[in-house]
Amino acid sequence: MVLPICDVCLQSGILCQGCENKLKSGEVTQLELDIAKVLYNLGDGKIGFKKTIDMGDVVIIVTEKNEVGKLIGKGGKIVRAISKEIGKKVRVVGSETDLKSVATDLLAPARISGINIVYGVDGEKYKIRVMREDARRIPGKLDTLNEIIMMLTGEKTTIVVDNS
Ligand SMILES: [Zn+2]
Repeated sequence: MVLPICDVCLQSGILCQGCENKLKSGEVTQLELDIAKVLYNLGDGKIGFKKTIDMGDVVIIVTEKNEVGKLIGKGGKIVRAISKEIGKKVRVVGSETDLKSVATDLLAPARISGINIVYGVDGEKYKIRVMREDARRIPGKLDTLNEIIMMLTGEKTTIVVDNS
């Protein structure tokens, strides 16, 4: 797992021609550059990510499934540092596209009690049910979270809180 900017640039803080071009062409965004700097400094160059999705006030960082915990850091230390640097909320999800894993990562610390398929006039949709006692721990607006799941998995979803 690598960072989108080379080590030389991360060390010096000055962009080389190659990285400068990546930034200019939009292959790498300023946001990704800022995130890469934090990860480089806190992760000894050992933590990377695959891509980011900028949702406005929330940024989703996609990384390998087995690196999610590393990127979040002990007690959320690394995610907090990134969040502070970029001034946005940060969520980390594994790069797999199966709905259950994506929803679990995205909604944490809120726990999912079940996912079921609903057939409606506008096609099929997945209903993701969150445990009632975790309602307050859902990390964001439901609309935004549904949108993110759609981007990552291509599935339409509605997140709901269990009734009882
Ligand atoms: Zn460079």
